Amino acid sequence: MNLRLSGIGMTSQRTRMRMVDRLRSQGIRDEVVLAAMGSIPRHIFVEEALASRAYEDTALPIGFGQTISNPAMVARMTEILRNGNDLVKILEIGTGCGYQAAVLSRLAGEVYTVERIAPLLAKARKHLRESHCNNVRTRHADGGIGIPEAAPFDGIIMTAACTHIPSALLKQLGVGGRMVLPVGTSDQQFLHLIERTPTEYIETVLEAVKFVPLLGGIA
Ligand code: SAH
Repeated sequence: MNLRLSGIGMTSQRTRMRMVDRLRSQGIRDEVVLAAMGSIPRHIFVEEALASRAYEDTALPIGFGQTISNPAMVARMTEILRNGNDLVKILEIGTGCGYQAAVLSRLAGEVYTVERIAPLLAKARKHLRESHCNNVRTRHADGGIGIPEAAPFDGIIMTAACTHIPSALLKQLGVGGRMVLPVGTSDQQFLHLIERTPTEYIETVLEAVKFVPLLGGIA
């Protein structure tokens, strides 16, 4: 029996439901987001040695100096992106271990996700296969250029912090679409929401956050 996939003990459905209850108490209201996070086996996405901590309220290392965000941050960004509406096509920049993409796959028709570190992407692909996320397309590239041929997206989410919002991504956001991303330096970052209307981009600065930086090129 594969213990990693069987969902026993600290990785059981009950542990996951406790995480969902905690998210509710932390102010997450969107039941679609909560259901998605209740259905994705987060322990599959972290290193085996950390699997028992997968549902804790904490960010965890995923190798190559990168981290998976804590569940509350994943939920918050997903809730802002969704804004109560079903999404058709989402672009994620910064696949990491694939967890955020897996959550998105439960509430959108299609998810495109871009990662610059090849071995990390290989792991993410494995995790996404194991959790049956068949509507996620992955790409090894510098996410700052987006995926022009798949645009427009009704949602864009970036899980690494940029100092300037890449203009390519703004162009690839469809009218009526929403983009959620951390903006700032390693010292100070804020979550930003960009809403594209037929005539303009409306930018709202939300709470302070802490993400790894968006880097250029591939590795
Ligand atoms: N969403 C991820 C979080 C990963 S951390 C998860 O659920 O695990 C941020 C990721 O962004 C890292 O894996 C990092 O390598 C990646 N990243 C940083 N700059 C990037 C760029 N220019 N293009 C694509 N990915 C990038």
